[in-house]
Amino acid sequence: MARPVKLRCVAQLPNIVFFRPVGIPVKALQGVRLSLEEFEAIRLRDSEGLEQKECAQRMRISRPTFHRILESARKKLADALINGKAIQIEGGNFELPQRRFRCGSDGHEWDVPFEVMAQRLPLSCPRCLSGNTQPIPLPPFGLGRGCGRRFRGGRR
Ligand SMILES: [Zn+2]
Repeated sequence: MARPVKLRCVAQLPNIVFFRPVGIPVKALQGVRLSLEEFEAIRLRDSEGLEQKECAQRMRISRPTFHRILESARKKLADALINGKAIQIEGGNFELPQRRFRCGSDGHEWDVPFEVMAQRLPLSCPRCLSGNTQPIPLPPFGLGRGCGRRFRGGRR
């Protein structure tokens, strides 16, 4: 049985999740999809300028894994820039450094750190022990212009 992909820790969500080149008809528009962890890898390494070791630690992954994610992200961005493709940031296997959970039985809320969520075990409410618990949905991100729009092709 295949092991589920390990969660990567993503500390910052993008404000803008869709970029498209000017002057290309929507019908002819192709695109690349950047996962949230690819976005985070670019942010930490290329925008913040952190060392690869530090980036890997922050995302709670090994250096080779970080390197692979970063290279994949750079390749997609280069493809978009050189070939005039749209960029959509969505999906991935990630979690925030901390999430607030809510109990569906008594409404109790508490914070769960990444390390606990990464174990992917069902979490019971610390107050009433109910298993009816869920993370509070992520704050809306990237709800600006272009959100939800789709382009043709570019699926990878
Ligand atoms: Zn409860």
